Amino acid sequence: MDSREVIAAGRFVADKLGQKVVGVLLGSDVEAVAREAIEYGADRVLYVDDPAYGEYLNLRFADAIFEMVAAQKPYAFLLVANELGKDIAGRIAYRLGTGLATDNVQLAVEDYFNPQAKQTFKNLMIQIRPDFGTRLARIYTPRTRPQMATVRPGNFASLERNPGRQGGLEKFSPTQRDYPAVVRSIVEVPKPSVDLRGADVVITLGLGILRDRSGKRRDPKEAYDLAVRLKGVIESMHGLKVELGATRALIYAELRELDGLIGKDNQVGQTGATVSPAVYFAVGVSGSLQHKVGMSRSKKIVAINTDPEAPIFQVAHYPIVGDLYEELPRITALIGGSSGAA
Ligand SMILES: Cc1cc2nc3c(=O)[nH]c(=O)nc-3n(C[C@H](O)[C@H](O)[C@H](O)COP(=O)(O)OP(=O)(O)OC[C@H]3O[C@@H](n4cnc5c(N)ncnc54)[C@H](O)[C@@H]3O)c2cc1C
Repeated sequence: MDSREVIAAGRFVADKLGQKVVGVLLGSDVEAVAREAIEYGADRVLYVDDPAYGEYLNLRFADAIFEMVAAQKPYAFLLVANELGKDIAGRIAYRLGTGLATDNVQLAVEDYFNPQAKQTFKNLMIQIRPDFGTRLARIYTPRTRPQMATVRPGNFASLERNPGRQGGLEKFSPTQRDYPAVVRSIVEVPKPSVDLRGADVVITLGLGILRDRSGKRRDPKEAYDLAVRLKGVIESMHGLKVELGATRALIYAELRELDGLIGKDNQVGQTGATVSPAVYFAVGVSGSLQHKVGMSRSKKIVAINTDPEAPIFQVAHYPIVGDLYEELPRITALIGGSSGAA
């Protein structure tokens, strides 16, 4: 899935520039996958098909990708900001002597006027990512090529598969080298207990669960139970897959009452998951930039917040100014019928 998203990101940039998207693929027995990349929007795929590339070894892959990219001399080179992309992007950028903007949530192609140099750079790929504060940074790297960027999964919708789409497949043979590291065994990391990206509906709790509108301290487990109840009603009445999300602030608060119920796997946002479900409930969530970059592409956003000025309302389709301790049961009853029963 991630690779399809990066093809879509590449397609967006290439179409603006009138250029081609060339996919880079390494593995063993991967010709069918290379064809699939064409069907998802690549114009050509340069691929290494060799049992030596059946398992990921970063030095071997970095050498091969460097050779492939250096031979192509592209305008830009994009990778997915997943474990593998993050591991390898810096190595490639260093070898190519170019910059790297990581974790982009958007890309744009625009002319850029540099006031110091008093120079306009035409058709520059602008990399857009959250900075370390509360803003989206636009990164301009006009002088070196390729412009290198990693894109965060979940921010570029993959294109529709077009089985009739034609494109070039080109096999590449990297220089053979010996590597001191070998893969002896592979241990699967346990899958996260929460499938936020696969959910139709995400109900996210924020620090607002700590108090009700009168300022009275509430047991966070009470809000959790209300969210679980809403989850149960949506699942049973509509057959949709619902997951519970959380803001980083709520997770970092390490509330004893939520121990074992809400954890890192529930986090939505810049340093958590990027989600775009059919419906996203933001419950007692202020809507910081770091949170919004992870959920603002949701199809419909319902936000419950006591503060009418809360930034979450800037992206909400259904803003509810109110106390979550009153509004969650009300919504559950509305969806579930008068009894609100699951
Ligand atoms: C580098 C970096 C990365 C980060 N990554 C992430 C990330 O991935 N995900 C993330 O979420 N954050 C992330 N953050 C943290 C982010 O900046 C915010 O601090 C965080 O999102 C705030 O969480 P919150 O909305 O739960 O809390 P708050 O900002 O405290 O908001 C609580 C909200 O609840 C409302 N409220 C209070 N009581 C009620 C009530 N009874 N009913 C209804 N509403 C009520 C309040 O009006 C308020 O708007 C990151 C920060 C940094 C610096």
